[in-house]
Amino acid sequence: MPRVSFYTLGCKLNFAETNTLQRDFEGRGFEAVPFGQAADVTVVNTCTVTAEAERKCRQVIRRARRANPDGFIVVTGCYAQLRPEEIAAIEGVDAVLGAREKFRLFDVLDDFTRPEQTQIAVSCIDTDAPFGPAFSASGRTRAFLKIQDGCDYTCSFCTIPRARGASRSQPLDATLAQARALAADGFREIVLSGVNIGLYGQEHGVTLLDLLRELDRVEGIERYRISSIEPNLLTDAIIDFVAGSRAFQPHFHIPLQSGDDAVLGKMRRRYRRHVYAGRVARIKERMPDACIGVDVIVGFPAETEARFQNTVQFLDDLPVSYLHVFTYSERPGTAAVEQPGRMGGAPVPVRERSRRNRVLRALSEKKQAAFYRSQQGRVRPVLWEAEERDGAMLGFTDNYVRVQRPYDEARAGRIEPVRLGPPAGGGTLLAEDPALAVLG
Ligand code: SF4
Repeated sequence: MPRVSFYTLGCKLNFAETNTLQRDFEGRGFEAVPFGQAADVTVVNTCTVTAEAERKCRQVIRRARRANPDGFIVVTGCYAQLRPEEIAAIEGVDAVLGAREKFRLFDVLDDFTRPEQTQIAVSCIDTDAPFGPAFSASGRTRAFLKIQDGCDYTCSFCTIPRARGASRSQPLDATLAQARALAADGFREIVLSGVNIGLYGQEHGVTLLDLLRELDRVEGIERYRISSIEPNLLTDAIIDFVAGSRAFQPHFHIPLQSGDDAVLGKMRRRYRRHVYAGRVARIKERMPDACIGVDVIVGFPAETEARFQNTVQFLDDLPVSYLHVFTYSERPGTAAVEQPGRMGGAPVPVRERSRRNRVLRALSEKKQAAFYRSQQGRVRPVLWEAEERDGAMLGFTDNYVRVQRPYDEARAGRIEPVRLGPPAGGGTLLAEDPALAVLG
């Protein structure tokens, strides 16, 4: 049996796409083995979000070649789409496939005989790229389902529209069919994934809210989460729907990027901080225990110290639950790099970017601890995951509090009420005996 191994960098979407490729390989008789083991074919699915991500991609490709001196190495993903020649120049790469070709891998590569010269198959992704369906499993209970790809926005720091093309989405019926199939396979929770999910359905004449309403009726799926949604696309109607829905969980992840209006303007974001604060207020009014995660970027050129402090203060005052902090990285081809004079400031020194990152990570820890404290003693439903970790099992509450309890196989995949106890290490709370709890 031929063997294949995979390495994925970047976002959940990339992971979903790699999982789908893996199923395709397995359907053709390949055995998937862990990365680093002997394999006839290795697929590296790359990311281009920062210079560091690209450096790591190059390192992984070299590791793949060392582990498999005679194996076939395919490199695909966003970095491959944007800079195929740079990747082809790395010793030992056999094929470089772009974003479209990722979903046509077996058409483009008819066998896996190593060529004399690296094969590059990267077509333009700007217009008319088809939607490539994908999903990935996290354990045996939760699946990440890709419903949308690409982005029509032009944020000045972002390369994603160039790497993944314009927004396009999976038709509603096909998405419902996938949700039903996942339910039939035993999944209890689906995380809806995409690049800019709020744009879902525009080419099919439907909206994200239409999809949410239909998904809520799919039997067998007890929980949905929306992986991330732009604040300007998170409407009152969506918030109100989630608050009253059967299965959508009180958990939102909303990119902010900066809490300073001048920086937001230079980033070409489509909202200002008062809009963001309004979204958070509406969520908390309708779902007081909702978990709200925030993406934020530090070190963008227009971010003076005073503007950074505006972000810190804004986030400190907001009732949000955790931050994902990203350090700004110059990406070739973006407006921030191509038109530096328009960004309203000089580059922030790299050391200062790192300092700001540390400041916001500390704020994130404070926010998360406060959110977890607010939930201690409460009774919330938990979906238990099947995996055993050092004698414990883990699960998430509806509002995304990580909990643990001693491993009990009978509970795997079950949703049950638990009382949230004291911190139990590893960013979890201890789940107290559900027999003591009455779900309120
Ligand atoms: S919304 Fe902005 S940051 Fe997000 S993918 Fe689109 S262009 Fe990039």
